[in-house]
Amino acid sequence: MTKKDVVYYYHKDVGNYHYGRHHPMKPQRLQACNDLIVAYGLHKKLKVVESPRLNVSDLVTFHSREYIDFLRKASPKCASELESSFSSFNIGEDCPIFSGMFDYCSLYAGGSVEGARRLNHKLNDIVINWPGGLHHAKKGEASGFCYVNDIVLGILELLKYHKRVLYIDIDIHHGDGVQEAFNNTDRVMTVSFHRYGNFFPGTGSLYDRGIDAGKLFAVNVPLNEGITDDNYKFIFEPIISSVMENFDPEAIVLQCGSDSLGEDRLGSFNVSFDGHAHCVAFVKSFRKPMLVLGGGGYTLRNVARCWANETGVCLDIELPNEIPETALYYQFFTPGFLLKPPLKQRHTDANTQPFLEALKSDILDCLRQIRGAPSVQMQTIPGSRLDELEIIDLHDAKYVKNKEGIPELKKWEATAELNYFTDAFKFLKGEKEEDEEEKKTICIPEDDSSDDKIPRNWPEGWKNSLRGFSRSKNLKELREMEREASKRLKVDVNIVQ
Ligand SMILES: [Zn+2]
Repeated sequence: MTKKDVVYYYHKDVGNYHYGRHHPMKPQRLQACNDLIVAYGLHKKLKVVESPRLNVSDLVTFHSREYIDFLRKASPKCASELESSFSSFNIGEDCPIFSGMFDYCSLYAGGSVEGARRLNHKLNDIVINWPGGLHHAKKGEASGFCYVNDIVLGILELLKYHKRVLYIDIDIHHGDGVQEAFNNTDRVMTVSFHRYGNFFPGTGSLYDRGIDAGKLFAVNVPLNEGITDDNYKFIFEPIISSVMENFDPEAIVLQCGSDSLGEDRLGSFNVSFDGHAHCVAFVKSFRKPMLVLGGGGYTLRNVARCWANETGVCLDIELPNEIPETALYYQFFTPGFLLKPPLKQRHTDANTQPFLEALKSDILDCLRQIRGAPSVQMQTIPGSRLDELEIIDLHDAKYVKNKEGIPELKKWEATAELNYFTDAFKFLKGEKEEDEEEKKTICIPEDDSSDDKIPRNWPEGWKNSLRGFSRSKNLKELREMEREASKRLKVDVNIVQ
């Protein structure tokens, strides 16, 4: 993989929000994870992009206007005025009102939606957005620490360009919000591996398989507590292989909730760091465009470890087990300072071999039945906006329909890709201007003094890309690549009608 293949969304503010002192969901885990990624130097191999904030029109492609208006207005200061509507939007202990809540939602979802657009335009192979993956949020209400369902928003975006999208969820909780949104369509298959039985959110039984045209396109794998790596792999691999064979998706969204790890504060599985990462590697091995998201995870240090390690998996890089001492969060990883320490087996594995065999065989039977299902036809599904392609925002890119009704780019230089090339050009020719709000430096600390010619206020992703280019490419090659990128974008846009 080259650095261009894997995009990493992050924003320096996303880890600064607080659900409340005793709330198990701690956005700070995102900072700790980002810090590990930087400490291991992975940012140099990734295309780092600052997460954009979604606006109301992006959010109402799935959520109700009334709910989004409420989220926008809600703040601890005016909580008492809005209290009468709390129950209808499921605001309470799990999903409290906290300062900056709407901003947090628009940030964690930004990477998922814009990341999906990147995959749509074939700009990258894998997009990572660890702040996203909040799978419980519903159309008109919050649930399970989730307010806005960035996964549904991302899948709706992918459906504009991909006939069939596969959603895989390895969080310990059922991906109920995502299944519910796509329960009646055969263009999205949702596959959720979760603990079932007296466990939040209580849905996701084996017999919950989708409805109408979506019948058999929701796959639920209800597990008992304590599942270990071997048993997880035993059920995960054949089901995913069969899904790939029978559903044949064009893009995959993988929710990597890390509460399925052993020692999670809220979870009760015995999956190890390697066992969890194996799922990512296995899904990646099918080489489909992939949106990789976070999700649950409530033992902060282990969330950071898990997703930093899996960033390495996306890049095909095996990280040393010793955490670099340069990590700002180094002390969090005491006593061993290891990336993948063994996790205590707190729960006995209640998934017996006959139980798993029966589960597997039932699910594989269902998957065989969908073979050749008429899911290849493009059809409008609620909220997909397939008929509203006049303008697609990709950063500042404006796609407009030309006289023949074919969408095309209004301004090449406004796209993320072209911006990058144009700026790389200017820089090499010594013309680069240093300003513009959108180009402010993001979360990654300066660590490379050898490239002091690169403007410090560029986004880190550009800097990283340019570091690679200035080493390996001359101006002529760069110009050639710019032409190729223009052609590729043009082709991609013309495909969409
Ligand atoms: Zn969870």
